[in-house]
Parts: sequence; structure tokens; C-alpha cells
Amino acid sequence: MSNSILVVGGGFSGLTAAIEAAEVGYEVFIVEKSPFLGGRVAQLNKYFPKLCPPSCGLEIQFQRIKKNPNIKFFTQAQVTAVKGEKGNYTVSVRIEPRHTVPNSADLSMLAGALEGEVENEFELGLAKRKPLYLSTPFAFPNRYVLDKNALSQADQLKVGASAFCDLNEGPREIELSVGSIVLATGWKPYDVTNLSNLGAGKIANCVSNMQLERLAAACGPTKGAITRPGDGKSPRKIAFVQCAGSRDQNHLNFCSYICCMASLKQALYVREQYPDAEVTVYYIDLRTPGRYDKFMRKVRADEKINLVKGKVAGVEEDTATGDVIVEVEDAVKGEKRKVRYDMVVLATGMQPSLAGQKLPFDVPVDEDGFIVGGEEKGIFAAGCAQKPLDVMRSAQSGTSAALKAIQTVRGR
Ligand code: SF4
Repeated sequence: MSNSILVVGGGFSGLTAAIEAAEVGYEVFIVEKSPFLGGRVAQLNKYFPKLCPPSCGLEIQFQRIKKNPNIKFFTQAQVTAVKGEKGNYTVSVRIEPRHTVPNSADLSMLAGALEGEVENEFELGLAKRKPLYLSTPFAFPNRYVLDKNALSQADQLKVGASAFCDLNEGPREIELSVGSIVLATGWKPYDVTNLSNLGAGKIANCVSNMQLERLAAACGPTKGAITRPGDGKSPRKIAFVQCAGSRDQNHLNFCSYICCMASLKQALYVREQYPDAEVTVYYIDLRTPGRYDKFMRKVRADEKINLVKGKVAGVEEDTATGDVIVEVEDAVKGEKRKVRYDMVVLATGMQPSLAGQKLPFDVPVDEDGFIVGGEEKGIFAAGCAQKPLDVMRSAQSGTSAALKAIQTVRGR
């Protein structure tokens, strides 16, 4: 029997599970596929329930990890194979090279001197990044990562001459012995380009809700200014289209739980930034579970925010102005109309990160890709790997998974 616990995924639920187990004395390994911990929360401008910036909650988690010798984490790492049984697993992990030395050297000068640029995954298509980069100013580990494939020849010479970069570093394979596994593999935004009638990916000023989070974030591509990606203009009339891809048997056949709340929150971002702006939210049902109902009442009280029950049939671009025309059927008035907006935000849903992938774990998943079992094997899903959740409930499910993992390794 191994007393150690593996947590796959370094987002909010995975970090919570790891910290909870480590702080009561268990050795925990975190395996995270991206170069930095923090997951989707790190991309948000503010998150519920208190509308904190992500640095607030995550920095506390990062401090707890730094102070706890029971936690070892591996970034740019993925599980490739799992052998064994409950209480005694051998897990193979492949770790991709970071190509920078293991310390927190400030490589911003070198990064700025590089000529190469590629799409910045963290900014969801709204910005480019250099081949040498950190995701955010509070990135953890606070250690640059070098994307070797994005280097030009001139850039290769520059980084090759740096004592802080190592172009020859190769991938590593390690094996971990653990008694239990927590799968906190998280979610990804539904691919909005599948929503062809809503213009996603084709209309510059039609963005997804996660892109709006990046536009509103002070460390984002516009330094927090909510502007139209097509021309940088400040929008004064914005529409939100709810259930964009969710509750639709052709896309995600479930409610993504948090996107109604996300749009109400983002409506306030817009109104705080532009006191004269008008916001319309087109919804089928507004889902504001539990205490969130109070938040909806606050939003409803703003006379410049209109909540309209209506199904959006299509979104088109006026190419001359960059404006976005929304065709909507108002369910209360029973009329169809076309309305012009400066910008449209699609409230796109949550899809499990591993949907459609072959898993190295022997756990059952439902038709949408959510993990729906595995507990009898000592494997526990946490956070949005299990179902759509907000940050608070993701953390709770991380704690719950940690407790079950502890019970497993203790043989109870
Ligand atoms: Fe639609 Fe709201 Fe559910 Fe999201 S939370 S899928 S917008 S009903």
C-alpha cells in the first residue's frame, strides 16, 4: 500500500484537494499539463462568490503549496499510463522540457528582445506572446517557459547565449507510486466556432464569455479596457447571448450551470466601465442558483441592463461598421426583430477538458465526457471533471475528493 496521493490537474479543485491532503500529512503529487498552476480561474477577471480577482484566492493556495514539503508538483506533465490497483498504483508521467533553469530569474528583458510571436493560448486568441513567457504576473511557478518551436534563428542565438535557458533539455519520464488518485482535470470553453449561426470565430466583435474575462482583466491584452477586438472602439451597446452551445442536443446537451451568473457579472463589468452603456441579456431561462439569486436582483435593479427572455436565432456582422446584428425572437412579446449592437458576448458553456480523449485511467465517463465513477478503485473525480460547477463548489468537491483519497490510502 502507498500512502501517497496523485492529483491530476492543477486548477482550483486540484489545488484544494492537494493542499487539504498534504496539510494533514499525506504526500501529494500534482501533475498539471500546462506550464503554470491555477487552471481556468487564473484567466478570470473576478470570480464568485465574492468577485475577487484570481490572484487573491490563488496566491493563498500557491503560498500553502510553497510552504508544504508534502506537495510536489510537475507542470507540462501528463499521465501516460496507470498500472496496479486501489492502494497500490504505479503512474507513468511524461514531463515536457521547460528549457529554462529552475529558479525565478526575471527573463523579461530577454523575452522582450525576441522577435518571434505566436498566438497566446492564455489570452484565447486576443493577443500574441513571445516564445519566452509567463502566463500572468502572478504565475506559479514564477519561472519562465521557453517555447522552443516558436524561436526564429536569431532568437535561438539569443536564448542559446543565456545562462538561464537550456535548449538541449529533453522530456523526462518518471514513475510515481500512489495509493489513490484524484482526477481534477477541469473544463474547457466549448469551441464557439461550432456555433456557426452565432458568428463565433468569424465576427471580430462577437466574443466568448471567457474572452470577455480576458478583456476585462487588468493583466489582459487590453489592460482591462473592454474594447471591440475588431477596431479597439469602446462599446456602448452590448448584447449577451445565453446558452450559446449549452442545452442544445447538437452541442452540449446540458446546462453549464455558471454562464448565466457569468453574464450578469460581466454586464456589471461593462456598466462599471461605461456608465452610459446599455446591456441586453437574451436568455431562455436565467439560472441563478441559491444565494446567487440576490446577485440577480442587484443586476435587475440597474435600469440600463435589460434581461430579455428570447432565443437568438442568428448573429451577423455589418462589415462596414463592425457592428453586430442580433436576430432574436422575444418570447414574451412574441415578436421577431433584428437589433444592432457594438459588441456581442456569447455565453459559451463548459465542456470537460478530457471530452473525446482516450483516458489513461480506467474510469467510466458519460456521453458528455464527465467522469461518473471509479470510486471503488480509489480514483475520485473533483471539480468540473465531474460536472459543471462554480469555483466555490469546485473547491468543496476538491476537499471531498481529498477526504475520500485519504480514506483509501488509510485502508478504510
Ligand atoms: Fe444556459 Fe444559463 Fe444554463 Fe448557461 S447557466 S447553459 S446560460 S441556462
